[in-house]
Parts: sequence; structure tokens; C-alpha cells
Amino acid sequence: MDRVRPLTAKETASAALALVNEHLGARSVVAVVYSHSHGDHFGGAHGVVDEADVRSGKVPVIAPVGFLEHAVAENVYAGNAMNRRMFYQYGSLLDRSPFGHVDQAIGKGVAAGSTGLIAPTIDIVEDIEELTIDGVRMVFQNTPGTEAPAEMNTWFPDYKAFWAAENIVATVHNIYTLRGALVRDALEWSRQINKALYLFGNAADVMFASHSWPRWGNQRIREVMRTQRDAYAHLNNGVMHLANQGVTINEIHRVYQVPESLQNSWAARSYHGSVEHNSRAVINRYLGYWDGNPATLIPLAPRESAPLYVEMMGGADAIVSRAQQLLEAGDYLLAVEVLNRLVYAEPEHVAGRRLLADAFEQVGYQQESPSVRNSFLAAALELRSGIPTGVAPKSTGPDLVRALSTLQFLDYLGIRLDSSAVGDVTFVMNLVTPDNDESFVVELSNRTLTSLQGFLSNTPDLTLTINRTDLEKTMIGVVPLQQQVASGAAVLDGDPTILLTLAGVLTQFEPTFAIMPGTTPDAAAVPADAFSYRDLGDSSGG
Ligand SMILES: [Zn+2]
Repeated sequence: MDRVRPLTAKETASAALALVNEHLGARSVVAVVYSHSHGDHFGGAHGVVDEADVRSGKVPVIAPVGFLEHAVAENVYAGNAMNRRMFYQYGSLLDRSPFGHVDQAIGKGVAAGSTGLIAPTIDIVEDIEELTIDGVRMVFQNTPGTEAPAEMNTWFPDYKAFWAAENIVATVHNIYTLRGALVRDALEWSRQINKALYLFGNAADVMFASHSWPRWGNQRIREVMRTQRDAYAHLNNGVMHLANQGVTINEIHRVYQVPESLQNSWAARSYHGSVEHNSRAVINRYLGYWDGNPATLIPLAPRESAPLYVEMMGGADAIVSRAQQLLEAGDYLLAVEVLNRLVYAEPEHVAGRRLLADAFEQVGYQQESPSVRNSFLAAALELRSGIPTGVAPKSTGPDLVRALSTLQFLDYLGIRLDSSAVGDVTFVMNLVTPDNDESFVVELSNRTLTSLQGFLSNTPDLTLTINRTDLEKTMIGVVPLQQQVASGAAVLDGDPTILLTLAGVLTQFEPTFAIMPGTTPDAAAVPADAFSYRDLGDSSGG
């Protein structure tokens, strides 16, 4: 059997398969296993297998329980913000140079190309489950709540080969990923590695995983597994040990220390997740963002407080000259503190912006984690020259939009609703999708759109009936809703103006909003059908 992790994009996946066939002899793909629900681990499925063969049952696609839901769930509601922040985490728009982008941590870059999603046909549901495909035995270990919400390790007992999904890579991973995502559970991650160690690790001759090289020899495998197990467990336990003695989310990254034995281990270094942002994440998971000091409970926005700081620090010139001294002394974070106030108070202050960019660059260059480095360098770039223009907005592949549930789609309309533009309009709408037997009641009231699945109003202002398969064409932007009505694919019963009203108050988010003050470009809005969906976040790289 030939199992191929189907990479991020169709083009790279089919090139990888061709390389294998060229060097190892031609072979056919008889099954696909998805290790987890992140985009760079299923996006290239179309490059290795024909979807018709999957639908006909010829080629099974095997995935951990919850895969399809989580392939999109993490990226729905904050998708546009995630894609904007992705530019920072991955430094996608930085020059490739020693002073710019050199790495993306667990990869040199995310492949460009067409991404897709073929739905699994076999779900691995039990904690441990065994399957034999084409004579190859596979033992799956579900590891939900680790690197991804749906993830599984695979053990090939006849080959003593252990596939650690993305649970064990050559670095400490992200407990908090800077593009934005729910904070992960370091303790559960550690526990699943420990379980794998006792289930398979003691017998394995080779261990391979996402984004890194294979480990050969049982002693080395056990050593790497223990290192990773302990790195995540210590992160959780060490941080909470301090938090229970009063160390807060705003101090922990300056206090928490990784044990020296782990610091000296390559597999526990910060080539992806940094100790600083991960330690803050652990407290965020258990205690939230507040440090307990009321001064930080309802803080002024930086824009509001900055002018007073600048005034009391003696004005812009005084800040610039002091910051210059701090930079020369190598006190980059102190320079950031004062210059950041200046840039918020006076976004057009060129010398202040340039100095803050200088300070960001120096902090960035000192980082081991490429995500942290890239974030500092990307902010520096934008402070110097504004948000780069000419970048095509990232579009979400149609397969992924089809994976959205109708409720997720409706919920996201609620997020896109510009409530300041709604006025006093209220309505109650029923939505029925007969082909999958679903129904929803959608209400606009108090300038708020709410949706509830499994219920219908007895007195709706409008009932919209459309098959889910047709609705998907609108969701992916191929057939506008108005055209569905004209063709009869969508049937309206009641007041049809409700849909026009709704379409008129839906915001199309742009992935070019300013992060640093004063860096907004004059980007033209990209027109699109109001009901099409294009903001799904990308989870590549975890
Ligand atoms: Zn991943």
C-alpha cells in the first residue's frame, strides 16, 4: 500500500507522488490517511487521488474522529483576522534575505497552489483502532485536543514504524499559534505522547512525523519522545506552579524557565512555538487574559492613553532621543515601550516610526522562533512602507467552503452584519434545505442576527427553501442568491425584500486592515456576491 500525506496543494502533492513513483517504482494509491485537521495535511488530496475513486469506495480516505468539522471549525469565525495575522506569523510578504524571511519554522514556506478537501470515508472513532488496508496493518491512536482538535498517530506493527502525525516534531510546537486559534492543551499533548511512548515507542525502529525528518533506532526514538513529552508537561506544570504563586500572564514569559536538560535538547528548542508566547498561553487557558490588577481590567485603548504618555515624557523629540540611546545600549524592548506610545499618539511621526521599526527588527533578529521573528519584522516593514499592496486577497477553496455547515455559514453572516447600518429593521426568516432535511430560524432583532437549527417559526416574514447543494453554489460565489431565486432553485414565500435588506448590510472583510497605527493602504474593495464566503482562515503549520 502507498500512503501519501497529501500536503498543502494539489500541484505539490502530485509532484511528490511522481517523485516517489520515479525512484521507488510506479505504484497506485490505494488509501489516504489524514493525520489531522490542519490545511497543510489534506489540502493536496486532489493531487494524489481521484475524488471519483473515493466516492465509489475504491480508495478509502481515513481520518480521525471529528476531522471534517474541525477542518473548518477553527477557521470560520475569525478567518479574515487569522489570514491577516498569518502575514505576520509567516512573514509571507518579507523579502527572502538574512534581514527578512529566512524560515517559517516547521517548513520553508507554505506551498502556493490549489487547495482542496476530499471528505473522509472512514472515521477512526475509538481511542485505539486497528485497520488492515491492502495487507498493511495500521493501529490508530486518536489524540484529540493536541496539536489539532482532530488528530491521530498511526503505528505500523509489521514494520515497527511509528507515524507521530504532527504531535512530535523537531521543536516545541505552538500552544498558542500567533495567527490566532483557541489555546491548546499542553498537558493533554504531553499525555498523548506518553501514551504513544508506552504503546508503540518502546518497540519502534523508526518514527516519522510531519514537517521533520525520520528518527531511526529505538533508543533515539524513546529519547525524542521523552524530550517532547517532558517539554509540554513542564510547560504546563512549570507555568501553573508559578501562576499558583501569583505570577501573572503579564510576567510569566519573563519568569518561567525551561529546565536546562531540555534547553540543551534540540527537540525541545523554540524553532516553532516560543517559550514566551507558549507560557503566556498556558495561563490564558486556565485563568484568561486578566492578571488580577484592576489597572489592566478595563485599560484605555493604546490610542487613548498614548497622547498623555507622550506629553508627560516631554514630547516626541524627547522620546526619540531617549529611544536612540536605548537602541544603542541594546535595550530594545525598553525602546519599544516608549516608541510604541509615540507611534500611537502621532502615527505620522516619521522618525518615531522608523526607530520603532529599528527596535522591532533588533528584537526580531534575536528570536529563535521564526513566528516571533517574522511578526516583529513584518510590523517593521509596515511601519516603514505601509501595508504592502498588490497582494491578492486569499481566497478560500470551494471544497473548504462546502465543508461549512449551514449553521456555521449563518453564524458567520451574523458576524458580517454591520449592525450600525441595520436601523430598526427586524425580521423572522425560515430557511429550509430539503435535500439534507435541515431547517433554521433566522431572526434579525436588536440589530443582531441569530440562527437556530432544527426549529421553524410559525409566523415567519419569509421562508426560503433551497437545496443545500444549491446553497453551496452561492456560498462559494458561483451563483448569486438572486440568480437562484430567478432560476427557481430558491423558492421564496413571504416578503422577498428581506434578502435584499440583509445583503445590503453584510460587510465583506478585507485582509488588509492596519495592525500598526497609520499603515492603512487605500485598498479598493473587491466586489463579490454578498452571500458568498471567502474568509475561511488557513491553519497551515498549526
Ligand atoms: Zn498541524
